[in-house]
Amino acid sequence: MNYEYDYDLVVIGGGSGGLACAKEAVALGARVACLDYVKPSPAGSKWGLGGTCVNVGCIPKKLMHQAAHLGEAVHESVAYGWQIPEPEKISSNWNKLVQAVQNHIKSVNWVTRVDLRDKKVEYINGLGYFKDPHTVIAKMKNGTERSITAQNVLIAVGGRPRYSPIPGAVEYGITSDDIFSLDREPGKTLVIGAGYIGLECAGFLKGLGYDATVMVRSVVLREFDQQMAGIIKDSMVERGIKFLFTTLPNSIEKQNDGRLKVRWTNSNTGEEGSDVFDTVLFAIGRKGLVEDLNLGSAGVEIKNDKILANDAEQTNVPHIYAVGDILQGKLELTPVAIHAGRLLARRLFSGSTQLMDYANVATTVFTPLEYSCVGLSEEVALQKYGEDNIEVFHGFYKPTEFFIPQKSVRYCYLKAIAERSGDQKVLGLHYVGPVAGEVMQGFAAAVKAGLTMKILLNTVGIHPTTAEEFTRLSITKRSGLDPTPATCCS
Ligand SMILES: Cc1cc2nc3c(=O)[nH]c(=O)nc-3n(C[C@H](O)[C@H](O)[C@H](O)COP(=O)(O)OP(=O)(O)OC[C@H]3O[C@@H](n4cnc5c(N)ncnc54)[C@H](O)[C@@H]3O)c2cc1C
Repeated sequence: MNYEYDYDLVVIGGGSGGLACAKEAVALGARVACLDYVKPSPAGSKWGLGGTCVNVGCIPKKLMHQAAHLGEAVHESVAYGWQIPEPEKISSNWNKLVQAVQNHIKSVNWVTRVDLRDKKVEYINGLGYFKDPHTVIAKMKNGTERSITAQNVLIAVGGRPRYSPIPGAVEYGITSDDIFSLDREPGKTLVIGAGYIGLECAGFLKGLGYDATVMVRSVVLREFDQQMAGIIKDSMVERGIKFLFTTLPNSIEKQNDGRLKVRWTNSNTGEEGSDVFDTVLFAIGRKGLVEDLNLGSAGVEIKNDKILANDAEQTNVPHIYAVGDILQGKLELTPVAIHAGRLLARRLFSGSTQLMDYANVATTVFTPLEYSCVGLSEEVALQKYGEDNIEVFHGFYKPTEFFIPQKSVRYCYLKAIAERSGDQKVLGLHYVGPVAGEVMQGFAAAVKAGLTMKILLNTVGIHPTTAEEFTRLSITKRSGLDPTPATCCS
């Protein structure tokens, strides 16, 4: 430890990555301060300690997704013999849901704060910026400033949603920063953007009973396997979610009745259109929060709004690091930020040399019918290995529990992308269906351990589950055989 500085590590940003690194560093004997500060969204939403995931990301999203699922389950339960008087009349209560979600978030904020105190991480509720490479200024809510010096600095400031540069966007639009605490029913909603956040929001809103439309600039789920993205989109259309393809918004105007008139242009046909919505939610991507950091005075290099770092999450200034969403070109996922933060603390304070492995990280899209994947998409595998060198095993399947309520099985599909030769090392797994994340987590460990098709197909399944379908993938795309099963157990 170097007592020339106030702290061995100052972390700017108390979200998933920053908190994980701060806590691990303290456990390894370092003196650590963690700054966290949330600027209210343009619509006025603000929240407590813990970052995006806890407050306006994964957690409230999953809870609203679950709320939507439960509504569906009530209807299904009737087919299973539950006696529900007038099931067609059930409806959700938005304000009650928001209250329950926000109560949970507040309890997590509280526990996080207590945890930092117990672990002896100094928490500073201030906006951090660099005065020089070893000095960070914390600007408090009341305008006062506190200067602290650090041997090492971690930048873990994450990002915030972008708005389209059109009239009315910031005044009348909301984003994922606002939807989970919205103090009125969202009503008829236009979601602008078809990345995973846009699709998830449209999915739970529709599930809760609201009219939902997704405006798509070019493709759905751009970062994902495009066959699977198409299946997800089709499964959403089947549930009544509307899509406006190749469409860009032009303006949002507030009408006298308070509703929002959105005008748009179809970039393919040039055709103009408009409709009136109660809520317009922008989900067109997120920008890194580098602006407030005064990075110039620390000499840290950035690209656009992201921080450039090497494989050790080290910036061009050797004692300044970055983890999580603020990193250029890395996966924007909570467990990625957490793992990278922890490993960094171990390298800094316990002599570890282990680097974060960003390959084969599994992820899930929590659309009404969920999608989870690990490893390569088919497009990337084709590009990397060539068509002659990969084999794609695929199949539709019928979840047992879908039969009685006669739920659509049309989009329950999975595929494994593997090397074509030898034991056929698995390069990617993709699954659309119930509890996708739960299904994929274990397979992700297997892929990390070098799973081959030989091992996968010699794994005895757990029956009747949907995960077992991975052990029964016998049809290859190359064979041209029909991948549709006759029954659930064929
Ligand atoms: C709607 C939504 C759903 C998501 N769902 C999932 C999911 O299902 N699974 C998943 O893995 N990931 C999900 N994510 C992504 C996940 O939330 C992020 O990857 C994760 O939170 C990144 O952690 P981080 O530590 O990099 O930044 P954050 O968690 O964003 O934390 C950064 C913190 O730093 C603060 N800060 C910023 N600038 C300063 C400053 N100058 N001084 C002090 N504090 C500052 C911020 O206010 C924030 O509190 C979702 C994100 C969104 C928006």
